[in-house]
Amino acid sequence: DMIELIRKEAPVAEWPAAWFAVEDNIRRKGILLDHGLVPGQALAAALERGPEKMLAEIKDAKLRGRGGAGFGTGLKWEACRNAAGHGAGAAHYVVCNADEGEPGTFKDRVLLTSHADLVFEGMSIAGLVVGAKKGLLYLRGEYRYLLEPLESALAARREAKLLGSNILGTPFEFDIEIHLGAGAYICGEESALIESLEGKPGRPRIRPPFPVTHGYLDQPTTVNNVETLAAACLIATHGSAWYLRHGTEKSSGSKILSVSGDCERPGIYEYPYGVTVRQVLDDCGAWNPQAVQVSGPSGICLAEAEFGRRIAFEDIPTAGAFMAFDETRDMFEVARNFAHFFAHESCGFCTPCRVGTTLVRNLMDKIARNHGSPYDINELFKLHRLMQGASHCGLGNSACNPMFDTLNKFRPAYERRLMSLNYEPAFDLDAALS
Ligand code: SF4
Repeated sequence: DMIELIRKEAPVAEWPAAWFAVEDNIRRKGILLDHGLVPGQALAAALERGPEKMLAEIKDAKLRGRGGAGFGTGLKWEACRNAAGHGAGAAHYVVCNADEGEPGTFKDRVLLTSHADLVFEGMSIAGLVVGAKKGLLYLRGEYRYLLEPLESALAARREAKLLGSNILGTPFEFDIEIHLGAGAYICGEESALIESLEGKPGRPRIRPPFPVTHGYLDQPTTVNNVETLAAACLIATHGSAWYLRHGTEKSSGSKILSVSGDCERPGIYEYPYGVTVRQVLDDCGAWNPQAVQVSGPSGICLAEAEFGRRIAFEDIPTAGAFMAFDETRDMFEVARNFAHFFAHESCGFCTPCRVGTTLVRNLMDKIARNHGSPYDINELFKLHRLMQGASHCGLGNSACNPMFDTLNKFRPAYERRLMSLNYEPAFDLDAALS
């Protein structure tokens, strides 16, 4: 319904109020969602420190990207700051990746709805550190209804001298523009996002060079996740020593999880890094879970024996999706659904992914119709290896993860379908997989 309303460009006033009631879904607050900061507080602290000391604070706090990969934010900002601009339009840029497209993730929506000032302030702090005068927030197309409220928040910040020139009475100059995506999953990949910002089709670039040296308009650009930028405000305000007191040794701070699926209390949960999967399942009221998909289709599918594992970069890194599946779910159908998703979202640029995702989808459909054989399982594995090694970007590399995980951990869901073949009543699946 939401997509239909967006397509029709129906006025926001006509949209159901429930879409905006995100506060109701916040189930557990931590240091970020309970920050208590007023607009300008973190930025004033950063300006007082100055760019060098602010960068050192971010590095000392061991802040890592919340988009899933976990690259050191301080290292990224430092590389961007040290890179020289190119040509007549030499400049540095800050980009906020708000293209929250991973199925099962909705925590950035909550941050943008309820804590937009924190996100914009994080962008300003990044601008101060890397030496940028302009920031661009790339907003997911499906979040178009947030555009007007976010523009209003930016106008209020300009009014309060938190954006523009002479920010808070200092020589610092920085402003933010919002760009709207058009609903392509691949634009969550930072170089595809930059292509899209430049008005081109969202296709991942060949790297290196990386955006920190050759990003938006070929200029040094830091691309950071919404949650990462918000977390930078906490470090600016409270300092690295305070921040390091939360989380684990290699994963400082907190993580916001988007919890959905078979549970009584779906919604937003913030935990210090290091929380176990079991703890989250208990808190959200997931009774009899057989599996949890962490980090969306491109992430990892955990079976019950793994529920003691921890959400942290040293164990299970995640962008935030946490989907619970109870015993009534057919895990083959879950994987098949993800196969359709990847076939639909492949951008079509490179052959292994364009053709591979379609072949995987067709094979899964064939198995679903009980027309599959061990040969098809072999084909799935071959495609997995081929796409992992030859795809141009992470989408193709990880597109077979759901099949791989469910085949290894929920094999009966596949065997049931393969065994039903009349002309092949029994076979050795292990031999087929070897
Ligand atoms: Fe596009 Fe897929 Fe190739 Fe990535 S791997 S560039 S999404 S076709």
